[in-house]
Amino acid sequence: MDVLVRRDIDSNTDYAPLCVRGSRARFLHVFPSLSTSTHKLYPLRVRVVNVVTGDLEWEPIAYIPLVRKQKEPLAEMRGRERRSAILQRVLYLALRTTVTASHIGVLHEQDGNTYVAFPRLMLYMSDQPEEKAVLCLKGGSCQHPCSSCVVNVKEAGAPAALSAGERDAVLTVERQLEGAAHKRYQRESVRRTKLEAMESAHNRVPVVAGMAGMTTAPFLLYKSIGFDALHVR
Ligand SMILES: [Zn+2]
Repeated sequence: MDVLVRRDIDSNTDYAPLCVRGSRARFLHVFPSLSTSTHKLYPLRVRVVNVVTGDLEWEPIAYIPLVRKQKEPLAEMRGRERRSAILQRVLYLALRTTVTASHIGVLHEQDGNTYVAFPRLMLYMSDQPEEKAVLCLKGGSCQHPCSSCVVNVKEAGAPAALSAGERDAVLTVERQLEGAAHKRYQRESVRRTKLEAMESAHNRVPVVAGMAGMTTAPFLLYKSIGFDALHVR
């Protein structure tokens, strides 16, 4: 990730535009051995934009395994939990260096000068289920179905939705942190249910919230994720 970010740095700007794109549309089949079973993976790609030359480049940075439900009690729910946990782990492995660099900076040399660059995540393009998964928000039928505001499901699409409050990145992630801690130690089940219901968010912490600028000023956590129009080709 360092290399990708550094290549992107323009000495005239103080941030490197970084776009991430997950795509389940393009699968990779991996044959782990000579057995007939295969693993399906989908790629997580980063679009590197050179702000000086305008050159664009997509680089695969991670492959996320597809996890199917197994034959077990509560299979649907457990499968969902596993997929959600694996997605956040892969995002962590892929983005941890960038997350650190977004806070402490990364050195970039150009024309004999050394600059300290602070990468920022400007856009995470995905389809809607992935958007919910990346942000650890509930999908499907829930009280607050919108990723960027807290409109109630009963008012979504009605004129009243226009005045719905925006999602508060700090508050929501704080509640997710609390909920994730309770879940880890299997405690406070009533409180956990309540926390999840407040903003229809899972008791899991989204990795991208760790990037500087997401839950720190200018609080872009729910603004830097966007719909991937390429999925509608
Ligand atoms: Zn909304």
